[in-house]
Amino acid sequence: MAKQEDKFKKVISHAKEYGYIFQSSEIYDGLSAVYDYAQNGVELKKNIREYWWKSMVQMNENIVGIDTAIFMHPTTWKASGHVDAFSDPLIDNKDSNKRYRADVLIEDYCAKIEKKIDKEVAKAAKRFGDSFNKDEFITTNGRVLGYQEKINTILSRLGKSLEKEDLADVKLLIEELEIGCPLSGSKNWTDVKQFNLMFGTKLGADAASAMDLYLRPETAQGIFVNFANVQKTGRMKLPFGIAQTGKAFRNEIVARQFIFRMREFEQMEMQFFVKPGTDSKWFNTWKENRLKWHHSLGLGIDNYRFHDHEKLAHYANAATDIEFKFPFGFKELEGIHSRTDFDLKAHEEHSGKKLRFFDHESNSSYVPYVIETSIGLDRMFLAVFSNSLIEEELEDGKSRIVLKLPAILAPNKVAILPLLKKDGLPEIAHEIVNDLKYDFNVTYDEKDAVGRRYRRQDANGTPFCITVDHQTKEDNTVTIRYRDTMKQERIAIADISGIINDEISFKKWINK
Ligand code: ATP
Repeated sequence: MAKQEDKFKKVISHAKEYGYIFQSSEIYDGLSAVYDYAQNGVELKKNIREYWWKSMVQMNENIVGIDTAIFMHPTTWKASGHVDAFSDPLIDNKDSNKRYRADVLIEDYCAKIEKKIDKEVAKAAKRFGDSFNKDEFITTNGRVLGYQEKINTILSRLGKSLEKEDLADVKLLIEELEIGCPLSGSKNWTDVKQFNLMFGTKLGADAASAMDLYLRPETAQGIFVNFANVQKTGRMKLPFGIAQTGKAFRNEIVARQFIFRMREFEQMEMQFFVKPGTDSKWFNTWKENRLKWHHSLGLGIDNYRFHDHEKLAHYANAATDIEFKFPFGFKELEGIHSRTDFDLKAHEEHSGKKLRFFDHESNSSYVPYVIETSIGLDRMFLAVFSNSLIEEELEDGKSRIVLKLPAILAPNKVAILPLLKKDGLPEIAHEIVNDLKYDFNVTYDEKDAVGRRYRRQDANGTPFCITVDHQTKEDNTVTIRYRDTMKQERIAIADISGIINDEISFKKWINK
């Protein structure tokens, strides 16, 4: 645990030191759970967004993108169920006066049991050496099975109680498990209460006539209310999807873990409209597609797992999370939800407008079913960033800090380094910068010895360095150094652009 916390602290301080993420309004001591993206962070975030957008909109003929407003007519949130049901079950500790999400307290308790399983596995792996079979061990070892059974029983009861809105039982579960306040250890709890997460605001100049609005808590509703507009103007036929990325706001109570849980964050959502009856097939297809997208970035297949929901939201008939192994354990990164016809039907009822699809084949019209894929851009940023930050032991006994960002996502693709600040080398280096900058972000660095500059670029996440030296003047060649392998090669200046464009080719990455 201490090791994990340590790693997470390093992630947070590296993000600040290398210009990725700053605390919002830091000079005023910051605003809790609100963050700003710095000069490198904004590029990484943009590249992740683009990687998602291209894979959804550019790669699929039947998916189009839109960009809807953050403010929406307030009835939207009545129809969607957010006014009545978008809440978290909260519990207060009477001694420490700290407020917690009751479900998170219980989930954290289960995560601790999971750690015990990990320990058993590690012990057995050590004992059995090469002949160790993890799958066999976890499905046969009595102690592990006991732990797993306990987790399943707790989570299933939690799911059922939340679904039935039986908050008294959620409290009882916390008491039975003897869960204490993470800060004080006290077990003196209040009852569990629901708390709505939407931020309210006002539209209009004078108080009497001002209209109550909400800052959208998800981008999805902007897609649903535009379903008919997009379908008609784009002459879309089922199945088809509408994608959008944009800000969402939630008054999160337990806002911690850096950019994992923010009050202002960005979502990348896609609603896929299908013929009723085909929803289960499409749900499975999108589960597969989305996992493949994650795997393409090479962050490690073992770092992902599906977690099917026990408790389904009011709109869903199936739901799963893609969980990622963050520095603080496996947590939700993306949700895939089969939302039935709940949203379109609710908007039909509240607006009086038809939100249907006319099917020429069956000569009938119906409300389509929806499969949603919803991923937090900031959470994806944290997944990529934390996974890429590595302290590496080198052969010469030294170590280096390297940010092994996937090259396609890196803020700067290449650093151009003149070996010396004289003899015409900076001039040649600048010429190379001026040529390459049409294609991708290039950075120039002439300060310090070249070894130190390599280390700086490693820590910054720049995947390639080009060094200009005296030989360059003779034969127009330079040295290219690869961040991950530290391999160096002599190449022609004329080949730099081709080599790097190939290394960051979307086609290559997405088909990995
Ligand atoms: P959680 O259980 O972590 O609160 P959720 O199930 O409420 O998440 P969804 O409503 O399904 O989340 O939102 C879709 C995605 O949006 C999540 O998978 C996550 O990546 C992202 N997300 C949700 N809330 C936040 C937040 N407060 N900060 C950052 N990202 C978020």
